[in-house]
Amino acid sequence: MAAKPLLQVEVVETYYGNIRALGGVDVAVNEGEIVALIGANGAGKSTLMMTIFGNPRARAGTITFAGTDITHMPTHEIARLRIAQSPEGRRIFPRMTVLENLQMGASLDNLQYFDEDVEKVFTLFPRLKERMSQRGGTLSGGEQQMLSIGRALMARPKLLLLDEPSLGLAPLIVRQIFDAIRQLNKTEGLTVFLVEQNAFGALKLADRGYVMVNGRVTMSGSGRDLLADPEVRAAYLEGG
Ligand code: ATP
Repeated sequence: MAAKPLLQVEVVETYYGNIRALGGVDVAVNEGEIVALIGANGAGKSTLMMTIFGNPRARAGTITFAGTDITHMPTHEIARLRIAQSPEGRRIFPRMTVLENLQMGASLDNLQYFDEDVEKVFTLFPRLKERMSQRGGTLSGGEQQMLSIGRALMARPKLLLLDEPSLGLAPLIVRQIFDAIRQLNKTEGLTVFLVEQNAFGALKLADRGYVMVNGRVTMSGSGRDLLADPEVRAAYLEGG
């Protein structure tokens, strides 16, 4: 029998008031995979990411992480299971320095690893080391994205959720960010689930992908197959 996915989302429905944003979503992420979720503006990608973290809560369906049902778990308990996220908009603390932002990401359970983990983040993103004492709010967009990912890594996650890491960044910086994600996956075996409007970059990076339209998954497959799919090409890759 095949091993159970690390993260399994089954027929999940999420509402904002009476508006249904997710209409029965099924997604699975296996240990060691990079999985991308692509889709247009408003498709529900961020809502799925946030629902996995328990805010907003799924009104129907089940979310399982490492064999534990997390559907009704409070967000702080979900985080303790070592799911970490770099949310939409990065949400770094603008008045805190780079180092203080990283401190905020460290879990009390892992304080003995703090120095080692900071060094790892600085090795991954040397730019952050140079700017260790600079306030978060004064970093460039790309540096803020690096910091947001670095802060998530400080929690020593088993699963890293990334919401649009490439948004608004220059192509060279996007490459650096995607290279870092690939490196984390290859060298540390980190499992990554990322949401992206940059379908080309995300599907190139990912082992597998899902396409979301109007709150439903309409297609899934290997990154390579989705990149070659005529419908995906027409909707997300050509002229975009
Ligand atoms: P984008 O790439 O633009 O962020 P998305 O695919 O992440 O889009 P969501 O942000 O998940 O999409 O939005 C899905 C739907 O839910 C949209 O119709 C959006 O207007 C709606 N929505 C999102 N957040 C809220 C909210 N807090 N209250 C009410 N409706 C919301």
